[in-house]
Amino acid sequence: MVEEYPRNLTELEANYGTEEACRTYLARLRWPEGFRCPRCGSEKAWPVCGRWECGNCGCQTSVTAGTIFQDTHTPLPVWFRAMWWVTTQKNGASALGLQRVLGLKSYETAWTWLHKLRRAMVRPGRDLLIGRVEVDEAYVGGEEEGLPGRLNLKKALIVVAAQQDGPGIGRIRMRQIIDASAESLVPFVQDSVEVGSIIHTDGWRGYSSLASKGYDHEVTVVSRRKKTASELLPRVHLVISLLKRWLMGTHQGAVSQKHLDYYLDEFTFRFNRRRSKSRGKLFFRLAQQAMAVAPVPYDRIVHPNRVNAKVKAQPVVAT
Ligand SMILES: [Zn+2]
Repeated sequence: MVEEYPRNLTELEANYGTEEACRTYLARLRWPEGFRCPRCGSEKAWPVCGRWECGNCGCQTSVTAGTIFQDTHTPLPVWFRAMWWVTTQKNGASALGLQRVLGLKSYETAWTWLHKLRRAMVRPGRDLLIGRVEVDEAYVGGEEEGLPGRLNLKKALIVVAAQQDGPGIGRIRMRQIIDASAESLVPFVQDSVEVGSIIHTDGWRGYSSLASKGYDHEVTVVSRRKKTASELLPRVHLVISLLKRWLMGTHQGAVSQKHLDYYLDEFTFRFNRRRSKSRGKLFFRLAQQAMAVAPVPYDRIVHPNRVNAKVKAQPVVAT
């Protein structure tokens, strides 16, 4: 579909100020080829009280059903303002900031909204990194050297992949891992980087099976007295230090370990779009992905690990 999005706050308020305008926009994102009845596949339908009624079988479909906006009691224009604010804040949005700007009654609501939107920051079936990619692990949390304050987070181990783009950094991927074993590291690489790419790591044995998995594995051993890891894998270590600053700055270190994965998703979303000239385009991307990500019950947002580990968002099945 044509990428259609507000270019500034005035356009947002003028074009997406009503429930109907927001629904129409979301419908175009959800059914770019036109509405199709999820039950019978018919393309004949008309809007009835904010829903689509199938002209063939008569069933009604809400544009927000099966998306993160399902069952929301908040008017969609408020959600749109939230998405606008989240995507136009250069360094991201904190719950307190969102609460203030939208005049929400509770901090908890703002916090929950941000977590719902973070679920939409990972596109189901997104492209893998390719080319030459640096991979390394790092601890985040606890007292951070060179940074004021401390993260309200016990030390957590993460693994980061940063694609090389000339002298700079292309796209990135990151994940929290339980340890630095091959069982944790290799699946991350396989989920993040296309087979056949060059993976550049240090000499840690957790990476030693990469060559047998179809990667061109380039190892630089960090020897004492010589260079440090951040000099040998400069891209990945720059990303890690930017991540730490962001967690400390925007979120004031108030990130708990069980929610860390979702902050990593938000950081990745922002980082990979940092060169986008139009903030409106980020809004478009977020709204589009919000239509493709299944709803997450409040309980699972607060306790993501209770049922099982992070449950990956499932794409909405288009019928
Ligand atoms: Zn039908």
